[in-house]
Amino acid sequence: SPDPTAGSPSRNEALFERSAARIPGGVNSPVRAFRAVGGTPVFFVRGQGPLLWDADGRTYIDYVGSWGPAILGHAHPEVVAAVKAQAERGLGFGAPTELELHMAELICRLMPSVEQVRLVSSGTEATMSAIRLARGYTGRARIVKFEGCYHGHGDALLVKAGSGALTFGQPSSAGVPEETVAHTLVLDYNDTVGLEETFARLGHEIAAVIVEPIAGNMNLVLPRLDFLQRLRSLCTQHGALLIFDEVMTGFRVGLTGAQGLFGIRPDLTTLGKVIGGGLPVAAFGGRREIMRCLAPLGPVYQAGTLSGNPVAVAAGLATLKLVQAEGFYDRLADTARTLTEGLVAIARRKGVPFSAQAIGGMFGLYFRESPPSTYAEVMACDREAFNRFFHRMLQEGVYLAPSAFEAGFVSAAHGPAEIERTLEAAQRAFAALGS
Ligand code: PMP
Repeated sequence: SPDPTAGSPSRNEALFERSAARIPGGVNSPVRAFRAVGGTPVFFVRGQGPLLWDADGRTYIDYVGSWGPAILGHAHPEVVAAVKAQAERGLGFGAPTELELHMAELICRLMPSVEQVRLVSSGTEATMSAIRLARGYTGRARIVKFEGCYHGHGDALLVKAGSGALTFGQPSSAGVPEETVAHTLVLDYNDTVGLEETFARLGHEIAAVIVEPIAGNMNLVLPRLDFLQRLRSLCTQHGALLIFDEVMTGFRVGLTGAQGLFGIRPDLTTLGKVIGGGLPVAAFGGRREIMRCLAPLGPVYQAGTLSGNPVAVAAGLATLKLVQAEGFYDRLADTARTLTEGLVAIARRKGVPFSAQAIGGMFGLYFRESPPSTYAEVMACDREAFNRFFHRMLQEGVYLAPSAFEAGFVSAAHGPAEIERTLEAAQRAFAALGS
């Protein structure tokens, strides 16, 4: 792969080599390792707005955004000030604070399907807890997920999963006993017929269906509206709970999440990423009657030493305050659309089979003629072409997610200048692919 620092000593490479000795794969989360695209991962030392600086002093326009949280760009002054102010009052008490109340009230106000909410520290915890709660509430064991959707690395959900699991060709993990996932049914995303058949056969045994209402962990795949609507009505009809995993889409595609965009009311919702503003906050919430089954009120146990940590919640609240500004999501969507339309136009001129689409502040890039709507179509994308494009863009100072199976993110700090620079880089990257 092209290395801009070839021949000169690279701090990135030295850091990665040392890290690999003490951290498995040199990283604390697999996709960071660049295994799918090859080459050395970039060690970042600083972020500001839409930009990142690496250990070798190079700058990049960032389209990963910490995998979603950085919706305001990096180190937004109001978020940083909120974190500093709270840190000076204490880092955490393991007791309730008023900040958590503000966060809960805000989430319930913006997402009407959420009547009560509990804060946790990662998306994985949120989905794991939501599944346990759904099973406890319904008294049923089976859960349904969709191939290519990723819901964190809880055992029951780590089956035919997306994101890093997919990137490394191990969508189902070793170390998860068959018995543990015996109750997990995996169906095809956007396949309404498969859904009907499964509910006809097993509907009375299904505790919950968990779905990314916009799939963002097998690249970006938009749902068919009738698929989500049928999912809602089948769950209601059979007494199963519908869980929208909005860890990625919540406050990313709009102020009311994918559920607001599509007008569908799930029973439970999981949130993460943006609600922590870059620090570890996630949440699960939904109908009061279900949430009341949680300890200390009910028999479903769930807890966390750092749950609702005040410094993290302060960052989240400062972020959620700013995203409520008039027109925030319209501008964000414009930015993402300008980017994807620009890329598609350039690729067409250069004769590269390519398509792209955006929804709110997230986007998908596909090395195929049209955006995929199924897992199989995602698999048919040209991964080699993506990898070459990725490295050329990296060399040009554009940081894309290092896998063909991840969605991309823009922030409110990405302006016309960043988009223009990105499209200029893409002219050269697509030209290199075309030849
Ligand atoms: N659900 C979805 C939809 C996600 O995108 C992710 C993370 N990418 C998770 C759950 C897991 O969240 P975390 O990495 O915070 O555990």
